[in-house]
Amino acid sequence: MSDPETPAAPPAAAAAAIRKIDHLGIAVPDLEAAIAQYEALLGAPCEHIEEVPTEKVRTAFFSVGETHLELLEPTDPASVIGQFIEKRRGGIHHICFEVADLDAVLAEYERRGVRLIDRVARPGARGCRVAFVHPAAAGGVLIELSQKPLG
Ligand code: ZN
Repeated sequence: MSDPETPAAPPAAAAAAIRKIDHLGIAVPDLEAAIAQYEALLGAPCEHIEEVPTEKVRTAFFSVGETHLELLEPTDPASVIGQFIEKRRGGIHHICFEVADLDAVLAEYERRGVRLIDRVARPGARGCRVAFVHPAAAGGVLIELSQKPLG
């Protein structure tokens, strides 16, 4: 009999396809103010600022060792990030896993019945392809999957 407290061994294929935590996404009401805060905290300059029109956000990236922080400021109060800030005043919004092959991971998750927000990848910041897993499938945490651009 299976013990309900012990999760089944993870299928090797998808586990191997997840490389690392690429970044933590942090929603902020004022990107310039947050950049100044994080530059003071990290003692390092912001490395990349980019507007992502499809997500209605402006983003700023910092490196922290091998991973990154992504600050997200809404460009539209009705956007997902705008509503998050309205409700919670900001804070950690998502965790992003870097994957080697996003389409393969999405297909595998669908096969396993993992609840997805995106069945198909969409364009993200820094030229990545991204997709989101529903928080209901991850203990209440929004998970972003990201595949780096080729080359
Ligand atoms: Zn992100």
